[in-house]
Amino acid sequence: MLEVDQLVMSYGGFRAVDNCSLSVTEGSITGLIGPNGAGKTTLFNLVAGAFPPSSGRIRYLGEDITGLSTDRRFHLGLVRTFQIPHEFHRLTVMENLMMVPPHQAGETLLANWLTFGKVRRNEEEVRQRAEETLAFLELEHVAEERAGNLSGGQKKLLELGRTMMTDARLVLLDEPAAGVNRTLLRKLEEKIAILNKERGYTFILIEHDMEMIEKLCHPVICMAEGRVLIEGDFATVRADERVLEAYLGET
Ligand code: ATP
Repeated sequence: MLEVDQLVMSYGGFRAVDNCSLSVTEGSITGLIGPNGAGKTTLFNLVAGAFPPSSGRIRYLGEDITGLSTDRRFHLGLVRTFQIPHEFHRLTVMENLMMVPPHQAGETLLANWLTFGKVRRNEEEVRQRAEETLAFLELEHVAEERAGNLSGGQKKLLELGRTMMTDARLVLLDEPAAGVNRTLLRKLEEKIAILNKERGYTFILIEHDMEMIEKLCHPVICMAEGRVLIEGDFATVRADERVLEAYLGET
């Protein structure tokens, strides 16, 4: 589904991503781990199209998308979850979901908010989808709550919900477990697993929470110093000496 070929991202002379090659199979939940500064987030930014690579190619669904904008990638179903923008904190959970029509990219959400109530099309259809999303995520009880008042875990569920309002096929999740309490963490894991198994979403998940990686991800890719160190099942990757060394050398 996704092929990253010899990708390089240089900042001055420093290579945050250094000849990185990997591929992601449709239907998988691929875990991306590695010590701080390994280049995981930079790789996500390159795949999502936040900025172009210094060199290398990215292919998605058989098409070279290296030169495509974030918006074009979004239209192809390649979606990166974003934190709820600050401006959206005073909107309700329901409104936050309804802000995201299927073909609306994250970056243009603010513009959409500014015209909220004027240009929405198929409002009933969008509302129905939002209600289904709320029910799936078990967030109905906070539907009219302001997003800014949600707990860390509820915000992560809402971020996932906003992805569900799009026609996503490949979802990039950056540290979904960060700031989430144990109870909601289990719920988040359960929802990601269901979205993968029953609704066909493919995920790439950057995560430092190894319990979540172990439960959800196959395969697991470990990056260090901008490139792939090893790929395999969780147990194999965890037991690999190079992985241990990379984490021990973490600054
Ligand atoms: P973490 O797990 O801590 O989030 P990471 O694996 O996601 O780390 P990145 O955030 O991709 O790592 O950073 C990789 C390296 O690139 C780091 O050394 C970082 O300091 C550097 N880096 C990232 N963005 C920039 C930038 N805009 N300018 C200069 N260096 C950068």
